[in-house]
Amino acid sequence: MGLKGAFARHVSQKRRGLIASGLVALIFFIVVTSATLFLISHQRLQYQNQLKTRTEKLTLNYLDHLKNMMQEIMPLTSKPCAANLSNLTYRAAFTNGVRTFLLVKDGIAYCSSATGDMRLAVNHLYPEIDWQKPLDMQLQQGTPLVPDKPVIALWLRQSGQTQETNTGVLATLDLSLAPYLLMTSQNNDAPGLAIVVGGKAATTFSQNLIPKTQLPKNHAHVLEIPRYPLAIIFYSQHLTANDIRLTLLGSLVLSLMFGVLCYFALMLSHSPERAMMRGIKRGDFFVEYQPVFHTDNASLAGVEALLRWQHPTEGRISPDLFIPYAENEGMIVPITRHLFSLIVADLPQLMQALPRGSKLGLNLSPSHLSSPTFHDDVSQFLAKLPDNYFTLVFEITERGMVEEENAQAKFDWLHRQHIEIAIDDFGTGHSALIYLQRFPLDYLKIDRGFVNTIGQDTATVPVLDAIITLAKKLNMLTVAEGVETAEQVNFLRERDVNLMQGYYFSKPLSSTELVEFCRTNTAVDRQT
Ligand code: C2E
Ligand code: CA
Ligand code: CA
Repeated sequence: MGLKGAFARHVSQKRRGLIASGLVALIFFIVVTSATLFLISHQRLQYQNQLKTRTEKLTLNYLDHLKNMMQEIMPLTSKPCAANLSNLTYRAAFTNGVRTFLLVKDGIAYCSSATGDMRLAVNHLYPEIDWQKPLDMQLQQGTPLVPDKPVIALWLRQSGQTQETNTGVLATLDLSLAPYLLMTSQNNDAPGLAIVVGGKAATTFSQNLIPKTQLPKNHAHVLEIPRYPLAIIFYSQHLTANDIRLTLLGSLVLSLMFGVLCYFALMLSHSPERAMMRGIKRGDFFVEYQPVFHTDNASLAGVEALLRWQHPTEGRISPDLFIPYAENEGMIVPITRHLFSLIVADLPQLMQALPRGSKLGLNLSPSHLSSPTFHDDVSQFLAKLPDNYFTLVFEITERGMVEEENAQAKFDWLHRQHIEIAIDDFGTGHSALIYLQRFPLDYLKIDRGFVNTIGQDTATVPVLDAIITLAKKLNMLTVAEGVETAEQVNFLRERDVNLMQGYYFSKPLSSTELVEFCRTNTAVDRQT
């Protein structure tokens, strides 16, 4: 897997994260919007029902009280107006909402609490009232005295009369919708109220009475008042345009925030660091050991430990990919500590495969050298290794030495711990020679890029020769890596390169394979 591939993956992961977060945000938006709108509409409905119950109770109380009052007035219809007037006026004045009481005898209104004596046929005054009924009501635009204010007329017929004689009491009530408006105007965009009596309706949205047939049908909640020919209609939407606008806006803001949070959470959980930490916990990592041989007698000198990551879904991830990631993301310390612990776990097989004194090469990232925990990490690792069994060789690339200020002190400390140092991938970095001169290095590992060209590219031969000579002059041992052919082996042997490793001898092996390899392969096999 190339680095290019890794970046492509990273980008596509970002895109997948964006799509996933977008989807989550969309679902969140739909759920929040529907839940909020449902709650609002549910609350409205509850409020509507409460309002209806309250209004019914209030109206019934009022009308029943009025009816009782009219029953009390009823006996007055047998007396002349003059005898009744003060009583009538008093009762009208102290009955809430009543404009006038009229005494009616044989269909003629003959006494008014407001104007006293009169003589008018009631069916002329209130033509829509059914005078035969024990109780009836009519809505009217006004009365002769107050013509512009709508009134409700309530007729109460004297019981036990013959059909023809319409005797009873008529009350005219002021109709003011202001208190209802106050009650209904709390939450709704355009609330309304209509009081319907017979074929007419008084409404909060028209100055004049309108025919019942012209009443709007939408969002109407009808309350029929029991025992009275009266209905009250409430107009209110459970969900107004404003509710929907505000809910959409609120949900949109919330969903955006949620989506962004999801995206970061997803990215964090998919980040290479997280993936690596999970890989460590899951036990994805293991170590392969590549045997290293003495060139002169082809005997086994030791092994180089190479970290492997077997991801459960991504498959094998190359160290060329995850090591630079770990270095960049500050993960190299936990990764190297894990490498140490994996090697410790492999010790039984390693000791079975390798004789005492074998080299155990480990690749150390230069950034780990500068970590404050470096000494402790190495000391703890050393403490877990068997005494004087392996000679540790830390392979460090020249690239990192540039940044390491205290490299000299670190190398001295390593030497005091009997750890040898190899400069890895020699020849691939910049200004490498200065390090050879400055630092006490034990091995020089000739990069497999040079070894590859042996027998193919004659131009590199002088460079390779120069590197080998230089190493010898500086008393360093040379290791050739990536040796794949017999021709390369012969070339390197002729030039007295000290150690060799590569597919020609063996690929990197698991600890159990290494045991098997060391048991079956002898130096004699390899020399031929
Ligand atoms: P390196 O230190 O130069 O390791 C040698 C690489 O060459 C290994 O690749 C090995 O598998 C490969 N190799 C060995 N013999 C041959 C051969 O004959 N032909 C070819 N074509 N290749 C051969 P690998 O394991 O993929 O490691 C790549 C690099 O990753 C290593 O280069 C090293 O720089 C780094 N690395 C591996 N393990 C670790 C580790 O535990 N810690 C650190 N810091 N770096 C590691
Ligand atoms: Ca190496
Ligand atoms: Ca190399």
